[in-house]
Amino acid sequence: MTEIITIGNELTEGRISDTNAKWLAERMTMAGFTVSRISSVRDDRETLAGVIREASGRSDIVILSGGLGPTTDDVTKGALCDLTGSKLVGEKTVFLHIKKMLKERGLKLNENNRKQSEIPEGSKAIANPLGTAPGIWIEKEGKVIVAMPGVPFELENMAEKEVLPRLKATFSTPSSYYRTIMTSGSFEAMLAEILGDFEKQLPSGVSIAYLSSPGVIKLRLGARAGSDNEAREMVEREVEKLNKIIPEYITGYDDETLEMTVGRLLKAAGRSLCTAESSTGGTVSSMIVSVPGSSEYFKGGIVAYSNEFKINLLEIDNTILDKYGAVSRQTVEAMAKNSCRITGSDYSIAVSGIAGPEGGTPAKPVGTVCIAVNSPSGCIAKKFSFGDNRRRNIQRASMAALNMLRKRICEEES
Ligand code: ATP
Ligand code: MG
Repeated sequence: MTEIITIGNELTEGRISDTNAKWLAERMTMAGFTVSRISSVRDDRETLAGVIREASGRSDIVILSGGLGPTTDDVTKGALCDLTGSKLVGEKTVFLHIKKMLKERGLKLNENNRKQSEIPEGSKAIANPLGTAPGIWIEKEGKVIVAMPGVPFELENMAEKEVLPRLKATFSTPSSYYRTIMTSGSFEAMLAEILGDFEKQLPSGVSIAYLSSPGVIKLRLGARAGSDNEAREMVEREVEKLNKIIPEYITGYDDETLEMTVGRLLKAAGRSLCTAESSTGGTVSSMIVSVPGSSEYFKGGIVAYSNEFKINLLEIDNTILDKYGAVSRQTVEAMAKNSCRITGSDYSIAVSGIAGPEGGTPAKPVGTVCIAVNSPSGCIAKKFSFGDNRRRNIQRASMAALNMLRKRICEEES
C-alpha cells in the first residue's frame, strides 16, 4: 500500500488546490501501485513527524511532497530526522549541483543554500535538475519513505525520472495498461446509462472511470494482469466494444483533444477553416490555435459580438437579425456562410448564444446557443441549451461547435 502526504500551510488553509496529490495518485495507480490514503499536513514539524510515523506503520510506501526548501517554514527534513533519530548531514553532490545552478543564474551561495544541500544521515539524495531542493529516499526494513519538492514541475520531473523507476525496481507490481477514450456530445449520467450493460460485463481486473469536464467526458479503461501483454489485450478488447456501442460520441483516444482531432482531420483533407463567433468571444479560435501547426488550416476568426459587427464585418442582412434575432439558426447560418465566402475558407464555425446570467427571454432562455457549420457541400445549423452558468456555457458551446465541425468533416471527407 502507498500513502501520499502533501505538506504546506497553503494546502491546509485552502489557498491552493492539491494538484501534486492528484498527479501522484494517478501516476502511482497507473504504475500498478495501490494508493490507500492521501493526507495534507500544515508546516508543523511535530504534526508531520506523527503523520509520517502512522503512515509508515501501515504502508510500505510513503510519498511526501513539499516543505523541502531552506526556510524555517519548511519542516520536512526535520520531521524525517525526528522519525529516524538522525541528524542532517551535508551531501557533496547536492552542494555542487546547487553551486552550479546558482552560478548559471548569476547568483551567490548563501547559508540557506548550504542548508539545502543537507539530508538526513542514512538517507539518499535524489537529484533535482530543475531546482535546488533535493529529493530524499529513506529505505528501511522493506519500506520506503520518499520526499519530493512541492513545486509541481520539479516534483513531476523527479517522480517520472527517478522515483517511479526506483519504486518499480524495489517493489513488485502487477502489469497494468490504461487507455483513454475521449467523448463529446453527451453528459455523464447519460453516458453511464448507455454504458450500464457494458460496465456489467467488464471482466474482473478491468476498470472504467469517467472523468468529466464541460463538454468532454474521458473514459479511462484500465487493467491489471500478470503480464503487460495480457493487460493490454484485456483493455483493447473492451475498447473495441466501446467503439461499437458509442461511435457517435467518441472523438479521439489517449488525450487527443477535440481541437487536436479537428486539426488532424483538416490537415489530412487539405482543407481550411475560419470562425465567426459571437457569444463564445473567440474561445473557439483560441482552442484551435492552441494546437501546434494550426496555421496550416486555420485562416482566422471574427469575433462579431454586436449586431453592428455582424452587419459590418460579416455582411449579415439586417432583415435576418430583425426577423429571427441574433441568437437564431438563420443568423448563425448566415454568419457561417458569409465568413467562408469573405475569407475563402472551406469550413467555418459560427456561434451565437445567450451566455447569461442576463439577457434570457421565455422563448430564448439563458443558455440557448445556436451553432452552424458551413462546409463545401452546405450549411448545418443547430440550437442547443447549455444551462445558466456563463463560463461553463461558453466552454460547452465551444466544444459542441468543434464536435459539430468534426462530424461534418468525417462525413464530407470520407
Ligand atoms: P522550495 O525549495 O522551492 O521552497 P518546497 O519543497 O519547500 O520547495 P513548498 O515550499 O512546499 O516546496 O512549495 C513550493 C511551491 O509549490 C509553492 O508555490 C506551492 O504553492 C507549490 N505547491 C506545494 N505543494 C503543492 C501541492 N500539493 N500541489 C500543488 N502545488 C503545490
Ligand atoms: Mg518552500
